[in-house]
Amino acid sequence: MSAKFWTDERVTELRHLTEVEKFTAKQCATKFGVTRSAVIGAWSRNGIKSKNGMLDTHPRPIGERPKRAKREKKQREGPRILPKLLPTSAPREIPIRADVKPISILELTNATCRWPIGERYPYLFCGALEADLEAGVPYCPYHFVVAIKGGDE
Ligand SMILES: [Zn+2]
Repeated sequence: MSAKFWTDERVTELRHLTEVEKFTAKQCATKFGVTRSAVIGAWSRNGIKSKNGMLDTHPRPIGERPKRAKREKKQREGPRILPKLLPTSAPREIPIRADVKPISILELTNATCRWPIGERYPYLFCGALEADLEAGVPYCPYHFVVAIKGGDE
């Protein structure tokens, strides 16, 4: 069919569209109502050079775009799962010793209990003189137990 279809007249037009109008194979195919490969075949048989000087007119190097698209797709396929935040124990009743007056951070010494009282300014600390930071005991015995127990209570 293609041999008959591509008359001298059509080949001349194809050559004009391709070399002058810079039509792509697909545009030519649409124009003539044939397949793209039929256009490329006609180019090949008649020595018509497309705008890229190639018989096949890929507007961009093969592999470049698909690779990028693939990568984007991959990213989309794997939605980042946000790491679950560590379960924060609901603010419990803060153990405060009624027998000790809380102190500010400026009043902390190696001997004062560093158990934080409250979570907002002004930050206060237990302050009981029963800690020994140098010995690795930052809290008074009462808060030391609370610290070790953690959220088990
Ligand atoms: Zn304490």
